[in-house]
Amino acid sequence: MQLRYDGHLLESVVFLEARRLEQSGQAALAGRYHAQRSTLYELADPDQRSDGFFKLHVQWFRELGLEARVLATAKEFPLIEERATSLMLRKALAKKEEGAELFVRPGAKNVVVALRSERFLEDGFEPFLRHEFCHVADMLDDAFGYEPRIELAGAPPTELALLRDRYRVLWDITIAGRLKQEAERAACWSEFTRAFSTLPEERQRELFDRLWRERPAHAGLLDIAKSSHTRAARTPGGACPLCKFPTFDWAGADGLGSGAVAAIQEHFPNWRPEDGCCGRCAELYAMSKMAQPPTLFV
Ligand SMILES: [Zn+2]
Ligand SMILES: [Zn+2]
Repeated sequence: MQLRYDGHLLESVVFLEARRLEQSGQAALAGRYHAQRSTLYELADPDQRSDGFFKLHVQWFRELGLEARVLATAKEFPLIEERATSLMLRKALAKKEEGAELFVRPGAKNVVVALRSERFLEDGFEPFLRHEFCHVADMLDDAFGYEPRIELAGAPPTELALLRDRYRVLWDITIAGRLKQEAERAACWSEFTRAFSTLPEERQRELFDRLWRERPAHAGLLDIAKSSHTRAARTPGGACPLCKFPTFDWAGADGLGSGAVAAIQEHFPNWRPEDGCCGRCAELYAMSKMAQPPTLFV
């Protein structure tokens, strides 16, 4: 596995660390860095100068022990070393941009981890990195069966975003549980109850505890995310998964004939009878096996 860096990230991390050293009484070390840095401004050629900055910051990133911290954490996940072609650290400007991604091309699996430079100086740096590397290790694990694209046929973008959010919440619980990050438990639980608010509390507890202890594969996590999605749809006043209109008149698996089920699934392949639909859709689909989705008069 090859380690690669974004020069902007290294420069700002080294700069912040040098300032911290200065403030904590290690001015000599910080001074040596600033002296070396200022000589580079004498280089007239812009390419040479930026190359010089990059090399200087790689060197200081190592000298200040920052690279060793990243590598030591990565080593906790042997799959990364074994399977990833490269690991790239890239600069993130905001917390919401931080995180790990895997880019797969024929013959190459490249991991990119985006981090804010301040992250390196914060207390939770290693736990954060460990969490992200655990995502990566899962993505590289054949047994997990990761699929980067989470789709839901026929779903509007808001529902798809909800599904992806639920999936992420579930995956995060399995990670915190495996890493025994007890400090994360309360935050995970509150995210979980927010994303799965339609589940009864007893079911929430049972599911959460199971996810904390075990890691279902990608498909299993997605199933949980989807099943709660459909349960949510059958709440009184919830949106019918077919016509998207709110309804209090749900037709469930028991109220739908096989003709209606087949007609619905022609248009909504991911729909299952237990997802239900509104009474009006049930009637319309029962009337005929339509080639087009029914026209609704509202
Ligand atoms: Zn995560
Ligand atoms: Zn409907």
